[in-house]
Amino acid sequence: MSEFDRGICWLRRDLRLADHAPLAQALTRCRQVWCVFIFDRSILDPLIERGQIADRRVEFIHASAIELDARLRQQGSGLITRRGDPCSLIPHLAAELGVDAVFAGRDYEPQAVARDEWVGRELANSGRQLITLKDQVVFEADEVLTQTGHYFSVFTAYQRAWLKRLTAQDVAPAASMNAQGLAALPRGFTDPIPSLSELGFSPSNLRLLGVPTGESGAATLLDDFSTRIGQYRLRRDFPAVKGPSYLSVHLRFGTVSCRALVRLAQAEMAHGHETGAQTWLSELVWRDFYAQILYHRPDVVAHAFRPEYDAIPWERGDLAEQRLNAWCAGQTGYPLVDAAMHQINHTGYMHNRLRMIAASFLVKDLGIDWRLGADYFALHLIDFDLASNNGGWQWAASTGCDAQPYFRIFNPVTQSQKFDPEGKFIRRYLPVLAALPNQAIHFPADLPVVDQQRLGVVIGRDYPAPIVEHGLARTQTLARFALARGQRA
Ligand SMILES: Cc1cc2nc3c(=O)[nH]c(=O)nc-3n(C[C@H](O)[C@H](O)[C@H](O)COP(=O)(O)OP(=O)(O)OC[C@H]3O[C@@H](n4cnc5c(N)ncnc54)[C@H](O)[C@@H]3O)c2cc1C
Repeated sequence: MSEFDRGICWLRRDLRLADHAPLAQALTRCRQVWCVFIFDRSILDPLIERGQIADRRVEFIHASAIELDARLRQQGSGLITRRGDPCSLIPHLAAELGVDAVFAGRDYEPQAVARDEWVGRELANSGRQLITLKDQVVFEADEVLTQTGHYFSVFTAYQRAWLKRLTAQDVAPAASMNAQGLAALPRGFTDPIPSLSELGFSPSNLRLLGVPTGESGAATLLDDFSTRIGQYRLRRDFPAVKGPSYLSVHLRFGTVSCRALVRLAQAEMAHGHETGAQTWLSELVWRDFYAQILYHRPDVVAHAFRPEYDAIPWERGDLAEQRLNAWCAGQTGYPLVDAAMHQINHTGYMHNRLRMIAASFLVKDLGIDWRLGADYFALHLIDFDLASNNGGWQWAASTGCDAQPYFRIFNPVTQSQKFDPEGKFIRRYLPVLAALPNQAIHFPADLPVVDQQRLGVVIGRDYPAPIVEHGLARTQTLARFALARGQRA
């Protein structure tokens, strides 16, 4: 006998059926369950208003929802979708379907927390429950704390505690006892998922790029990565090399379970493939780390984690705006930074090493507020995740917890020589520089004019002159931080 007669599993950033904690709970506790997804107007409308109607994320979500619907239909059910405001639509659907409880994966972003509190209250007003469960991370909120009961702000200590706490139970697949619980869609709920154009969007280049979508796409990437995980540590820093997993968008939209990824790393380690798997597991721990920072310090969305750095006098005015625009467009005159910006603009993805270099360049070479860079990434990254993006930016800007020290300033040229030694990545995204020899490709402005002409890459004509001089920018950055630190003292 089930605890509830009817329930909804409200899918948000967990667009899969396998190893799904809220769905498993819903099926275990309810006799009948329907899956619901809301195309949230508060997210979609601003994109349409900005003219960003070929949005890769919307297309990714849409394609993943279609796959989910097909899988549910194979099991005699289907995905119920609506477009609008979940704060009113979920309580409304719950009443229409006569459910007792709504199950959902817990979300830690401030707006999502507010939304869930609202929906929980609305449901409670009609005698229903909102039951949220941990699904997005391995350890959430207060599960990994210091001995004094405080949240961790140092990653290595957090990781040590995280690993110490981890048991097989924490990453066991979420499964239900009630495979028959997925209910047929009632009359009036059988409409197909609206098309992209009905949602107000048009196709992006997602298909052209070959980004695999849905639960099946995540499985394909995971299979592929499982053959390369052993080399992860050696290859992950070189953007021209297929080193990382490319699973971030799947983690973002939950087309794969983070528990499954930890299980993969553990299995590899059990087979003695320690280094690659161990390093990769650390990256998954970084993800949890930033999620718990956002949970405990929601103020980091708008402020420096270290309050003294809110006083940094960032560059403003016309010149700063021109430089910001040049950075966004990949026109800084520093090839690896520019290639990185072309990568995000063209694909919605940016390699981790390049995120660090591009972010550092904006903040420490151009003196521009990290929040403007984080906003740009938020608009363009297909895997945009508030916690990781904020954490990554504050790390690069040295304003965050366990961030890189403020005096450590990436040199965009030596980073390029080190991580793209043959300029393969640069050539891929900046074909205009393809003819340059390896030694010159990292900073073509240094080439004598006669060589520029011979090679057909004239600085200022074919490729921009550097918009700042790194050495000078470095000095200015050190002064900028000294000022903020001094003001605090
Ligand atoms: C300035 C900046 C902004 C970033 N913004 C985002 C973002 O919006 N969304 C996002 O998912 N990641 C972000 N990252 C972290 C990292 O760059 C990406 O997760 C990674 O590049 C995704 O590629 P992958 O899936 O192939 O990674 P892999 O190297 O295969 O790593 C596996 C997974 O571990 C997690 N991970 C890896 N590195 C980090 C990290 N440094 N911090 C937190 N989680 C990590 C991701 O979920 C990733 O998918 C950012 C990093 C920086 C420096």
